[in-house]
Amino acid sequence: MDTHPLVARRSAAVASGVSSLLPGHFATSAEPGVLLDQDGTRLIDLGSGIGVTTVGNAAPAVVAAVARQATEFTHACFMVNPYEGYVEVCERLNELTPGSHEKRSALFTSGAEAVENAIKVARHATGRSAVAVFDHAYHGRTNLTLALTAKNRPYKHRFGPFAGEIYRAPMSYPLRDPADMTGQEAAQRAISHLDAQVGADNLAALLIEPIQGEGGYIVPAPGFLPAIADWCRANGIVFIADEVQTGFCRTGTWFASEHEDVVPDLITTAKGIAGGLPLAAVTGRAELMNAVHPGGLGGTYGGNPLACAAALATMDLMLTNDLAAAAIRIFTRVTARLAPRTGPHLAEVRGRGAMIGLEFAAPDSTPSPTTAHAVATRCHEAGVIVLTCGTHNNVIRLIPPLVIPTDLLDHGVSVLCDAIDSLGQV
Ligand SMILES: *Cc1c(COP(=O)(O)O)cnc(C)c1O
Repeated sequence: MDTHPLVARRSAAVASGVSSLLPGHFATSAEPGVLLDQDGTRLIDLGSGIGVTTVGNAAPAVVAAVARQATEFTHACFMVNPYEGYVEVCERLNELTPGSHEKRSALFTSGAEAVENAIKVARHATGRSAVAVFDHAYHGRTNLTLALTAKNRPYKHRFGPFAGEIYRAPMSYPLRDPADMTGQEAAQRAISHLDAQVGADNLAALLIEPIQGEGGYIVPAPGFLPAIADWCRANGIVFIADEVQTGFCRTGTWFASEHEDVVPDLITTAKGIAGGLPLAAVTGRAELMNAVHPGGLGGTYGGNPLACAAALATMDLMLTNDLAAAAIRIFTRVTARLAPRTGPHLAEVRGRGAMIGLEFAAPDSTPSPTTAHAVATRCHEAGVIVLTCGTHNNVIRLIPPLVIPTDLLDHGVSVLCDAIDSLGQV
């Protein structure tokens, strides 16, 4: 119902290019797995503010850490005066990310900024300029990251010209690839494409989401990521895993690269890292990260002290409560009810951990955005926040907070199941 006075104030004050999925529900407070709106309506949150509030929204330990830090100092600018919180976040990231090699980190404010900086590091360290990305990729909304992102609407439409030297390769997409295509074969397809059109020795970096997020929660076939990483290593190409959405226990491991024992050269993180405070990072091989001259990386707000305090509390919560295991329990619980519903409307239920995608397609496999939209709308009307994604907008994604109470999760999934069951015959 778009009748609340806040709705009118919003449209009178806020640029219409900034849209809201649920424009009639203004957030006023939150509980684990629940967002309350201006009327006190309790929305079940299966979206976590796009994968951010993994440890819960306003998690008490995060709030306390931020409040404590706010009374000490709110900002110093690490480029002027360093502070311990920033260093400690980097120490933790170096420890938690895949690989036991010597690492360094740098902190930023948004996921797009982390991706931009990973590309800066890779180009500087290699002296090369080309960057390989994939079909369905999403890496952000700044000019460089729009060039890296695949999808036109709403992201790129009329915002060009975009940064150059970006080359797109075919992704492994098991539902839509030939049925017998292995991960190795899908990797070879991408490698042949890049060899022919770019040349390995021109590539500074290859950037990939280990599980694609906005592009449709696409899990590549087993063997795809390791084969791509091996090719990068053999050719001096910096392998960058964009784990902005998949990181921090979301997929049942600290980082999604771990599912296939892939050790990225650089890894970008944000979203779930700090319980809702804006923080992002690039972590990677010390020799790459340290290749950049002093002053070459930074930003006024990068690694803000409140965000660092939040991140340390967030990582503690993930460790002490084993939230990676919680993600796996959510996967089992949710897919047990959704997978049997694949059929004429629902082509596939896929994902890892608490990152679950439902791809809607017609029986001839044509993507069906109208069906995804209809199901999502039913959920919204019943007070359940679900998000959509996919190059063709035909995927519903579930990314609940990992602390969501089981009864709320079950209720949210029941609403979703009912919406799927009520779809008509084809
Ligand atoms: C969300 C996202 C980004 C961009 O992060 P912002 O904080 O919105 O700039 C980059 N990469 C991936 C994989 C993402 O999911």
